[in-house]
Amino acid sequence: FHKPKAILDASDVTVQFGGFKAIDNFSFSIERQEIHFLIGPNGAGKTTFLDVVCGKTASKTGKILFGNEDLTKKKEFQIVRSGVGRKFQAPSIFTNLSVADNLELAMEQDKRLFPLLKAKLTSKEQSAIKEMLELINLKSAGEQEAGTLSHGQKQWLEIGMVMIQQPRLVLLDEPIAGMTEEEEEKTGELLLKLKKKCAILVVEHNMDFVRSFSEKVTVMHQGQRLCDGTMEEIQENEQVMDVYLGR
Ligand code: ADP
Repeated sequence: FHKPKAILDASDVTVQFGGFKAIDNFSFSIERQEIHFLIGPNGAGKTTFLDVVCGKTASKTGKILFGNEDLTKKKEFQIVRSGVGRKFQAPSIFTNLSVADNLELAMEQDKRLFPLLKAKLTSKEQSAIKEMLELINLKSAGEQEAGTLSHGQKQWLEIGMVMIQQPRLVLLDEPIAGMTEEEEEKTGELLLKLKKKCAILVVEHNMDFVRSFSEKVTVMHQGQRLCDGTMEEIQENEQVMDVYLGR
């Protein structure tokens, strides 16, 4: 039995706020080109886990391996450089710049604290932006002011801004929140396209959305792993039905 090598392998992670364990000895791994949904009731520790992976919050115990690198003691900017991208729920686009310019600024992560647009892009940079516009369904909106995009389009732009840095793992927290049904559907298609490029860890509350994929799901409860499997498999689990899926 050959187990494919995980791109992210977090083991025995514990996060404590005061005397309270938000994450309690939690282990999680994700493979290359895998979409993995992290679900569970409010307060289960899902967002905190994303925070630990990207270095925003320190874990008290355990180890986080990313490829051959140990992220456990690394700082947030180092982890981004290693190839972990995160789309936050709070918007980070420049609304008065064009969609293409937003992608340009995102392309060089080191400049993001002091972003400058170049007078002239190389042809390689131009084609990277063009490709990204196409990937995120904004092909004809490149010159449009980002502030005029719909809510869903803004979310795709943010995903594009993460993807243009060519991460090997992307963390998404409720990517379809506030979207129309049509936008949700297109986001689903987008995730399947992204999956060909990197691993994607998605925190999601919308079970219909999760069910629309046949991807792996991990259920978290009180900072711990309750179970994992496909949506079909976890629906058979008594405990999951009790604590989460509302029986
Ligand atoms: P989820 O994303 O699954 O809803 P969170 O990871 O946001 O859960 O939160 C897990 C638990 O940790 C919650 O009880 C939350 O109140 C607590 N928590 C999260 N961040 C902090 C913090 N900075 N300080 C104290 N408690 C926190």
